[in-house]
Amino acid sequence: MRDSNATVVVSGTTNIDTFVTVQNFPQPGETTIAKPGIEALGGKGANQAAACAHMGVNTVLLSTVGNDPQGELALKQLREHGVNTDYIVISRQPTGRAFIMNDPSGENIIIVTSGANELVSPAQQRETVDELRRQGPVPIVLAQGELTPEHSAQLPRLVANSDSRLVLNLAPVTTRDPDLMAAADPLVLNEGEAAAVLGEAPGTPVEELTDRLRTIARSVVITLGQRGALILEKGAEPVHIPAVHVDRVVDTTGAGDAFCGTLAAALAQGETLVDACTLGAAAGALATQKRGAAVSYASENEVRRLGEE
Ligand code: ADP
Repeated sequence: MRDSNATVVVSGTTNIDTFVTVQNFPQPGETTIAKPGIEALGGKGANQAAACAHMGVNTVLLSTVGNDPQGELALKQLREHGVNTDYIVISRQPTGRAFIMNDPSGENIIIVTSGANELVSPAQQRETVDELRRQGPVPIVLAQGELTPEHSAQLPRLVANSDSRLVLNLAPVTTRDPDLMAAADPLVLNEGEAAAVLGEAPGTPVEELTDRLRTIARSVVITLGQRGALILEKGAEPVHIPAVHVDRVVDTTGAGDAFCGTLAAALAQGETLVDACTLGAAAGALATQKRGAAVSYASENEVRRLGEE
C-alpha cells in the first residue's frame, strides 16, 4: 500500500567528490599534471538519499556539511535530486570531501576527509526523527557504515518501540556491534563486507557464509555485482535476485548506493523485500550506464519499467 505521506529518513554522510583522471598514478615525491577535475555530490548518505528521492518518496537526509562552497554545492545538488535538506546541519568544520584519481584503465586511488561528517549528533538526530514522526509515518530509517561507530550504536534505539524499520548498509564495515546488526531489517552488504562482518578473509565465497549471515540480522541482503543479490531470512531458503543484464558497463560507482536507496524507498512504498530488491537491482544496473554516483541515477519510471520486465 502506498502512503504518499510516508518519509524515509537517511542518516549518513555528505561529501563533495573531486574526480581527476591521470595518465599514470604519481609515485611518492612525484607530481602529475591533470586536466581540471569534476566536482559532484558524494558520500553514501547523500547518494542513497538521492536514489530514494528518485523513487518519488519523501526523503529527509540527516547529515552535516560545512559553511563553505562545497557545502552549498552539496545542498544545491541534493535539492535538485528531490532530497529534503531542511534538517542538514551547517557546522564550522569543512564539508567532507573525497579526492578520486582514476587512471585510463579505470583503477582508482581515493582519499577522504570526513570533515563535518564527524560532527553528526545522535541526540539531535533523535529529536529530528521524533519531530518527523509527529508529522507523519517514518516507515524506514536508512543508514550506512560511514557513520562513526558511536553514532551507529545509537541506531537500534532510534527505531526501537516505533513503526520504523532500520535498513543498514554496513559499508564500510566500521563496526561489528551485534546489537546494531540484529536491529537491521535488512542488513545490506556486498560480498567483501559479508566476509568482513564475520571476521573472515576477503574473497571467502558467500555460499560458505550464508548459514552464519542469516543469523546476525532480522534479514540480510548480499549484493553480488553483476550476479545480482541474495536475500537471507531466518527459517527460509536463500532467494536469489538476478541482476538486470546491461550490454556495456560505463561506471559501477554508486551502483550499491542506488540499490540501497531504491530498496529503502520501495519498502516505504509497501513492497515486499523480494520486490524491493528487484527494483534495487534495476536501479543498480541503470546506475552502471553513466559515469558518477548520484548523477547516474534513473527516475522511478525507468527503474520500475526495468524492474517489472
Ligand atoms: P557495491 O558497489 O556496494 O560493491 P554491487 O557491486 O554488488 O555493490 O552492486 C549493487 C547492485 O547493483 C548489484 O546487486 C546489482 O543488482 C547491481 N549491479 C552492479 N553491477 C552490475 C552490473 N555490472 N550489471 C548489472 N547490475 C549490476
